Amino acid sequence: MLDKVRGGLFGLAVGDALGATFEFMSREEILSRHGSKREMVGGGWLGLKPGEVTDDTEMTLCVARGIIANPQDPVEEIGRQFIAWYRTDPKDVGSTIRTALSAYTETGDWERARAITWERHGGKVAGNGCLMRTLPISFAYYQWPDLLGKFSREVAFLTHPDPLAAEACHFYNALAAWLLFGEAPWSAFKKARSLIQQEELARRLDSVPSLAVQDLRPTGYVVDTLEAALWCFLNGEDIIAAIESAVNLGDDADTVAAVCGGLAGTYWGWSSLPEKWKSRLLIKEELEQVAAGLLQASRQVA
Ligand SMILES: [Mg+2]
Repeated sequence: MLDKVRGGLFGLAVGDALGATFEFMSREEILSRHGSKREMVGGGWLGLKPGEVTDDTEMTLCVARGIIANPQDPVEEIGRQFIAWYRTDPKDVGSTIRTALSAYTETGDWERARAITWERHGGKVAGNGCLMRTLPISFAYYQWPDLLGKFSREVAFLTHPDPLAAEACHFYNALAAWLLFGEAPWSAFKKARSLIQQEELARRLDSVPSLAVQDLRPTGYVVDTLEAALWCFLNGEDIIAAIESAVNLGDDADTVAAVCGGLAGTYWGWSSLPEKWKSRLLIKEELEQVAAGLLQASRQVA
């Protein structure tokens, strides 16, 4: 179990660190100029060091720390972790999250921050920023499907007041929980799919088996990100192929590859991740501590 939980967190961070190099580039440009194999070299529009991660991993750690601090009732603590992170002036913060966290900083009230976020973005708040950070919820609550669903939705809602975005996070964590139980990828996908009510999300998930790589849209819209990341995971022959194919889609590459890497790492485990990637991560000690902490939290829930 520890290998899977560590694998999920490291896979997510590896996807983030590799993908950030190519964020906002097109798939054609990446493949023609850089080939298809990936090394952890940093760079990109954020000018990262090799092994440096971005908001995807940093916010995942916020969610994990919030759960570890209070496994019975983690949402408020997770909100506090988000605000503490935001005050460190991170290199990259997504637009919906920036609005939500600055609105909370002004008002001290998540409910009002939600209303402000919804209004400032004209109701278009189904960004992928809630999905990229949600995985620790699966690791702490995989044995409690009701809590897994409740906290997936509530933590999404802190910054993304959109039922579709919340349901996408619930689906993702349900899928990861089935992978923790040892289910094969397509079977875990079908089991998690059976929970989904929202029409657009259901339709897009049902189309995943018939998509080709050219059909994928690695944008910041939560359904596009989920679909692209899932496709790369479900069609990858191993963890390396899955993560590389997500990175190589370009556009919102760090987030799509983080979302894919979280699933791939949970399924194939930490030991299957190449040493050249995982040993380069600048925050690897913290990922190891948090993996152990989440498993401990999962035993404190009942
Ligand atoms: Mg990022």
